[in-house]
Amino acid sequence: MMRDSGKVVTVTGPIEPRKLGVTMMHEHLFIDSRGFFSEPRSKEDRKRAHQPVTMDKIGWIKAHEEHHLANLHLDDEETAIEEVLEFKKRGGGSIVDTTLRAIGRNPLGLKKVAQKSGLNIIAGTGYYTWEAHPKELARKTVEEIAQEMIDEIEQGIEGTGVRSGIIGEVGTSHPLEQNEKKVVKAAARAQQATGASITVHTGRDECSPWKVAGILEAEGATMDRVIMGHLDITTADMAKLEELARKGCCLEFDRFGSEGHFAWSDFDEPNDAGKVALVKKLIDRGHVDQVVISLDVCSKVQLKRYGGYGYSHIVENVAGWMRTKGVTQEQLDQMLIETPRRLLTLA
Ligand SMILES: [Zn+2]
Repeated sequence: MMRDSGKVVTVTGPIEPRKLGVTMMHEHLFIDSRGFFSEPRSKEDRKRAHQPVTMDKIGWIKAHEEHHLANLHLDDEETAIEEVLEFKKRGGGSIVDTTLRAIGRNPLGLKKVAQKSGLNIIAGTGYYTWEAHPKELARKTVEEIAQEMIDEIEQGIEGTGVRSGIIGEVGTSHPLEQNEKKVVKAAARAQQATGASITVHTGRDECSPWKVAGILEAEGATMDRVIMGHLDITTADMAKLEELARKGCCLEFDRFGSEGHFAWSDFDEPNDAGKVALVKKLIDRGHVDQVVISLDVCSKVQLKRYGGYGYSHIVENVAGWMRTKGVTQEQLDQMLIETPRRLLTLA
């Protein structure tokens, strides 16, 4: 039997699944995306790009997410605690932090936030997209990468004793880069060894989730423990989404509160009303138990402190909007409690 089968592995240790409550499946309490910063072209923009996040710049930063350096860095424990307490105050129970090595993962910070806030926090393992791959990944075999994931789930992350409870967010691009492909294959093996679910950062092309699902399937992954993330910036094509659902995947709409402002791909990201409509459509077609929703908080302007919606946006606002569109409490509980519980419980 696998270690902690039937339990959820949080950063403070294994817990009973019923203790999870309302769960955000794709968030970042700590992250350093400054490697993705790109210097703006105009002189005026270059100047503000290097200034602190202040209220007068919030609008510009939201429209140019990758052009403001400090915005791309969440590293303050006190801020993280204050922000997640806003979620807890409104009925939140658990948060999955999908930050990985090389983009600011902070296992001990997560443990502290969990202890101080009383929330359950689940940490990820694996590698993000190729831009954030350490050089040595190119030399590692699929087996070695899988073993790293298994060790982080069973023993702990980098000697901290803080264990991962989910694989990912597994970074994929479109087309899939060769080392990303190794990581996807390794994720399937680590899943079989540990019973953990896999959460995928899909690439910015509507073919990406299907390509990744195909590889996972071929590698023997348990498909009903695969979460396809960022679908709200990938496609709104029902036939394509339902095909993924038929494979068994969980469909994750994890960008509530954000709009891509044309930066991502040819696909125009729907706003929150559009995301609600998309989720409602999937519910009406019978997929309520294969949909999860989250916020992917990964920048300062998404925090309440900086004028954003914070980690509580779904429980505070989106859930109410969904109810006005006819989503029942039972369906909300399915997406926010039951399905996350199933996915986070080790097989
Ligand atoms: Zn993310």
